[in-house]
Amino acid sequence: MQEGIREYVAPGVTITWEPGRCRHATECVRGLPTVFDRERRPWIAADAATVDEVVEVVDRCPSFALGYRTDDGRVRTAPEASG
Ligand code: SF4
Repeated sequence: MQEGIREYVAPGVTITWEPGRCRHATECVRGLPTVFDRERRPWIAADAATVDEVVEVVDRCPSFALGYRTDDGRVRTAPEASG
């Protein structure tokens, strides 16, 4: 696990979140409010939707703050920093 990346584990999927990349665009909160709730701690409840719903909404995160690994092999990670 890279430094600065937090992980939220549920059956079938692990959601990753890198706070330093989050632009608070709220795509995630609007897309799946049961999973992403900024008023709750922890603010991500990875098991509050289906794996496919999580993947669909995490894919909308414009800054790549959010990523995932699914048990069936789907992965989203931030592009490597250049340089
Ligand atoms: S969609 Fe991405 S950038 Fe926007 S609030 Fe969620 S995690 Fe942060």
